[in-house]
Amino acid sequence: MTSNLLVALIFIVFGVIIGGLLNLVAKAISFTEPRTAFFSPCHDCSRSWQFKYLIPVIGYILSGRHCPYCQASLPVRIILVEIFTGLLFAFIYWRYGFTWELAMLVFYSSVFIVLLVTDIEQMLLPNIITYPAMIIALVIALLITLFNYVPSWAFVFPPTGFLGILNNYLFNSVLGGVTGFILLLVVALIFRGGMGGGDIKLAGLMGMVMGFPLILVALFLGIMGGGLIAAFLLIARLKGRKETIPFGPFLCLASIAALFWGKDLLIWYLRLI
Ligand SMILES: [Zn+2]
Repeated sequence: MTSNLLVALIFIVFGVIIGGLLNLVAKAISFTEPRTAFFSPCHDCSRSWQFKYLIPVIGYILSGRHCPYCQASLPVRIILVEIFTGLLFAFIYWRYGFTWELAMLVFYSSVFIVLLVTDIEQMLLPNIITYPAMIIALVIALLITLFNYVPSWAFVFPPTGFLGILNNYLFNSVLGGVTGFILLLVVALIFRGGMGGGDIKLAGLMGMVMGFPLILVALFLGIMGGGLIAAFLLIARLKGRKETIPFGPFLCLASIAALFWGKDLLIWYLRLI
């Protein structure tokens, strides 16, 4: 028990450090101009930061929320991402222990966190993250299939009958990707303007990561969550009717939630109907 707690603490520290790195990656891919140093969360100057300012959480406090070189103010997002990633990684360890799920979920949630940040701040879901992540998701799906592994989030179909083919994880992953891509394409065509190509590709990536039918759960959660928050912001007059709210962050959070609880949610729903 004590050692479990110790490992969970190590995962918090590990997550906080990765969170700091994800902040730097998100900045590097969304701010290509002016050419800034990678080891600096500052958008406004090109100075590489001293190590002490780069230490997650502590560096943010030491810097007093301002770039130590050009005094530009730093977004609160930096420390929020660091703390969120730390807690998330500890949760993943607590839930799955030392399993393949731990490794896969640490990787996938890192991808979704970077996309969440770039979409909130720059309305961008860069291909430089989405495309390589899609390839890695397919390679992981291939390995899962070759080793006959069943990830905890995978929905298991009756092995006999035509649905049995869905238990092939690679096939399932491709089907999930195609389903996500097409469904969001249709949604984007119906609600013109609110959604872009980045969201459609993100839905394809989500499907490849979690497969079918989990992609349906994730899209449902993302669209419901996005719709409710957008309605709230409109009613509370925090956003105007003409302003667009990025949809990607909802898809990213829904993906993480679906990987954790999507299968249970789906089974619960199927029992209801
Ligand atoms: Zn600066």
